[in-house]
Amino acid sequence: IPVSRYRNFSIVAHVDHGKSTLSDRLLELTGTIPKGSVGQFLDRLDVERERGITVKAQTCTMLYEHNGEDYLLHLVDTPGHVDFRAEVSRSYASCGGALLLIDASQGVQAQTVANFFLAYSLGLELIPVINKIDLDHANIPRALEQIETMFELDSDTAIPVSAKRGTNVETILPAVVERIPPPANNIEKSLRCLLVDSWFDTYLGVILLINVVDGVLKRGDKVISAHSRKRYEVKDLGILHPDRKPMPHLKTGQIGYAVLGMKTISEALVGDTIMHFGNEVEALPGFEEPQPMVFVGAFPAEGIEFQTLDERINQLVLNDRSVSIQRENSNALGQGWRIGFLGTLHASVFQDRLQQEYGASLIITFPTVPYKVVWRDGQETIIRNPDDFPDPAIQKAKVKDLLEPMLKAIMSFPQEYLGDVIELCENNRGTQVDMTFLSQGNQVLLQYLIPTSHLVDDFFGKLKGLTKGYATLDYEDAGYQSAQLVKMQLLVNGNSVDALAQVMHRTLAEKRGREWVKRFKKFLRAQLFETVIQAAIGSKIVARETIAARRKDVLAKLHASDITRRQKLLRNQKEGKKNLRMIGKVTIPQEAYQGFLAKG
Ligand code: GDP
Ligand code: MG
Repeated sequence: IPVSRYRNFSIVAHVDHGKSTLSDRLLELTGTIPKGSVGQFLDRLDVERERGITVKAQTCTMLYEHNGEDYLLHLVDTPGHVDFRAEVSRSYASCGGALLLIDASQGVQAQTVANFFLAYSLGLELIPVINKIDLDHANIPRALEQIETMFELDSDTAIPVSAKRGTNVETILPAVVERIPPPANNIEKSLRCLLVDSWFDTYLGVILLINVVDGVLKRGDKVISAHSRKRYEVKDLGILHPDRKPMPHLKTGQIGYAVLGMKTISEALVGDTIMHFGNEVEALPGFEEPQPMVFVGAFPAEGIEFQTLDERINQLVLNDRSVSIQRENSNALGQGWRIGFLGTLHASVFQDRLQQEYGASLIITFPTVPYKVVWRDGQETIIRNPDDFPDPAIQKAKVKDLLEPMLKAIMSFPQEYLGDVIELCENNRGTQVDMTFLSQGNQVLLQYLIPTSHLVDDFFGKLKGLTKGYATLDYEDAGYQSAQLVKMQLLVNGNSVDALAQVMHRTLAEKRGREWVKRFKKFLRAQLFETVIQAAIGSKIVARETIAARRKDVLAKLHASDITRRQKLLRNQKEGKKNLRMIGKVTIPQEAYQGFLAKG
C-alpha cells in the first residue's frame, strides 16, 4: 500500500462521550476484532475503565477498502486528562486528523474544548462526529450549533452516529479517507522514528510505540537514540492489529511497535528520535524529559511487608516511565518510598492501580511539590521531601532565598461563573495574567499564575465543582518564584512526626496548624499519660491540643469471673499492638495517620 493511502488519526473527546466504544466499533467494521466484541477493547486496564481515562497512548492498525482500493489506517488512542498533556500532544503530532466526538445528550464539555485546541494548534484536520443519537434526550441541533460557534467548523460536515448501536458508523471511515491527509512520504530520507510511548512486557522487555516519520526501519537494523546516545539492534517490529503482528519493516508514515532490547522503561525516552547508527541526522522536535510535578511519601499499611510491596511497586514503575521512585525512611511510618508523579490525577490513578492489581494498601502522605533553596554560597538544592526543608535557624544562617514552582493555569468556562472562579484563584494565591471573552459561545478564557502546590491540591476538582463540570483547565510551566515559605511540623509530646511535615506559605501556617492539631487529636487514643499535640515552625509553636491520660487497666471495670469476655479483650489488646508505631513514648495507630491524611 503506498503512503498516499495511509491515514493516521485520533479521537478527540470528553470522557464518557464514547471514544472507546466508537474505537471498538471501527475495529469491528474493519474486521480487526471479531464481530460482537465491541466494548472497551482499547481500554484494557480496570482502573482506566472505571475512571474513564486511558493513561497509555495505544494504537491500532486497520486495513480498510474504499472505492476498490486498500487503505492502511492507524487509530491512535490517547489519554484524556491534562496531567498527560505531553503524551497527548505526541500522539496528536503523529496524526493528520482527528474525529471530534461530541455526546449529543451532553453537548461540548470541558475536555472537548481543551483537546480541540491542542489538536487544532497542531494542525489536525477535524471531523465532527455526534454520538449517542439513540438517546431520548439527545439534542443534535445544540451539538451542531456548538460545532459552529465554539470550533468554527462547518456543521454540515458533522456525522451523527450511535456508537453503541452501530447506527451510521459506516460513514465515518470514508470521511477519514477523504478528508484527512496522508502522512508525508519521506521514504527516501534518512531514518527518523518518533518514540510515542512505551510499555513493559514480561517476555519481550520494553516495547516501543513508534511513528516512522522518515525512511524505513527494518528488523536487524543498528539504531541509536538521539537523546541517550545508546545503541540498539531492532529485534522485532510490526503493527498492532490489535495485537502485535510482526512485519519485516515499518516505513515512513506508519505507526507500529518495535523491540530494541531495552531492559527497563527508563531507557525509553518518550519524544526521543530513533535513527540509523552511522547515519545520524537532526532529531525530531518535541522532546521533553517528564518532570514530576508532585511527590508523595508512601508507606506499607497494616502488617504488609516492605519487601513484598517494594517488588510490586517497582514492577508498576517499570510500566510507567512518568513515575519516579526513591526509597525513604520515616521515624513514624518506617521504610517506604518517595514517588514522583506528573500530576494529582496521575498520583491517584497509580495508587488505585496498586490497590486493585495487588490488593495492597498504602499510607500516602500529603502531596508536595519540588521547592528550591538558594544558599548563601550560591548553591541550589531542590527539596522533594518536606522533612529536608531547612529549619528557621539554618535558614537565617545560610539561606539566601526560598522559591516555589509556579504554573500558568489556563481556564475556560461559561461567563456566569467568572466571579466564583476569580475568587477561587485569589484564594489560592493566584495572580491574574489575562482575561479574554470569547465572542461566541458565551465563554471566557482566564489565565492565572498559581503556585503549583495549590494547583495539585485538587484545584481542578474545586474548579469543576464551581462550574458544574464545565471548566477546562490546562497549564504551562511558569518557573520558580520567590516566596515566604515555612516548614510546619507535627509534634507529639515534643517529638516530630517526620512523615507529616509540610512546606507552606507563611500566611497559611496558623490556620493550617490549628486544623492539624484538632484533626490529629481526633484520631489518637488516650495514652497512660498526658499527650500533647503541637504544630510548630522551628521552635515556634503555632497550635496545641492535649489529650488527658486514661485509666490503666482495660480489665478494671470487669468482673473477674467473665472469662470469655476477658480473653477477648486481651486478644484485642494484643492485636491492636501489632500495627502501632511509637513516637517517643506515644503509640500511634495506623488509623491516626490514615485519618489525618484522608481528604476532606
Ligand atoms: P469514553 O470514556 O469516551 O471512552 O466512553 P466509552 O466508550 O467508555 O462510553 C461511555 C459510556 O457511554 C458507556 O457506558 C457506553 O456504553 C456509552 N455509550 C457509548 N456510545 C453510546 C451511544 O451511541 N449511545 C448510548 N446510548 N450510549 C453510548
Ligand atoms: Mg475510554
